[in-house]
Amino acid sequence: MATGGSGNTSTVTSSAGPVTVTAGPVAATATATVTVTSGEFGGGTGRHRMALALDIGGTKLAAGVVDATGAVLGRARSPMPKTQDPEVTFAAAVACLHSALSDAGLGGRYDYAGLAGLGVGCGGPMIWPAGEVSPLNIPSWRGFPLRARLRDEFGDLAVLLHNDAVALAAGEHWMGTGRGTRDLLAVTVSTGVGGGLVLDGRLYHGRSGNAGHVGHIVVDPGGPDCACGGAGCLEAIASGPRTVGWALDEGWQPTAAAANGQPDGPDEPVADGRALAAAATAGDDIARAALARSGGAVGIALASCAATFDLDLITVAGGFSQSGPAFWDALRAAYDLHTGMAFARAVPVEPSSAPDDVALRGAAAFILIPDCYAWVG
Ligand SMILES: [Zn+2]
Repeated sequence: MATGGSGNTSTVTSSAGPVTVTAGPVAATATATVTVTSGEFGGGTGRHRMALALDIGGTKLAAGVVDATGAVLGRARSPMPKTQDPEVTFAAAVACLHSALSDAGLGGRYDYAGLAGLGVGCGGPMIWPAGEVSPLNIPSWRGFPLRARLRDEFGDLAVLLHNDAVALAAGEHWMGTGRGTRDLLAVTVSTGVGGGLVLDGRLYHGRSGNAGHVGHIVVDPGGPDCACGGAGCLEAIASGPRTVGWALDEGWQPTAAAANGQPDGPDEPVADGRALAAAATAGDDIARAALARSGGAVGIALASCAATFDLDLITVAGGFSQSGPAFWDALRAAYDLHTGMAFARAVPVEPSSAPDDVALRGAAAFILIPDCYAWVG
């Protein structure tokens, strides 16, 4: 693992005031010894420190309790409620966190003494680091003060909140496919298309916290309008919903057998990314063409990123990244075509190895590994 920053003291701000966290030598493993020097910032010491983690996507919520070795001690998932009421959405997130605490055996609803903090990844855009979120794919939250609300809800626990793809990048770098790299781009192709950067071994935020928005790299100047207000963006072409939409326009008909890709899946046909990927795997020509169209667009965007950032590695997570050759063959072909210079062409592009846990671990890493992944906020 790259050790990144040279300093050994980070400051994490909780509502109780700034709290200094002194990190010991960050060794070549992720089990860095982190000593909490203030009683106000609870949560034990060393590898026994634990953090709550929350990953908020357009269609699902995932929560976990993660320790300083990266072990997920408890977890919970729930669907994102379809609602226009911000409080209903917030209540679902809180319930998911409580389920994860119960799953970890931490039981007591109001006992957070064993926790060092709560790390959150949420879809953007957001005001960062304040954590006021307006996710494109969660219409009930517009300017919602998520970080402050979570801090209030969990007894003034320290809360750090960032873009969900930034959490993914932290997780890939700390414990995932990107472990051991110094310069990493982690991308996810899902309901949206996002990305996060680790540069020189540290999470890279940019001026406003929005660095890494690869979903809004323009890959087709004449392409479709994007939810961001632009046009021709990668996300407008390659996201799950846009790819499914393209397939349906081309005449793809989802079947019940393809739904969920599971024999015991729903009886009614479902036109979603998972069903489309299953259909592609089963040999459906339109589905294969749709995934290839998505993969090709991702490859074009990643070629630009490889040239811009001079990276060790690019990782790709999200449903399509697990879908097989239709997506990946097109991605690699486009990437090879558009990376002319040797340093860019040499950057490997790999699927995420444990996509379900990477984002959760990354959100926890905001709290647990401050030298590489925290910020003053
Ligand atoms: Zn866009």
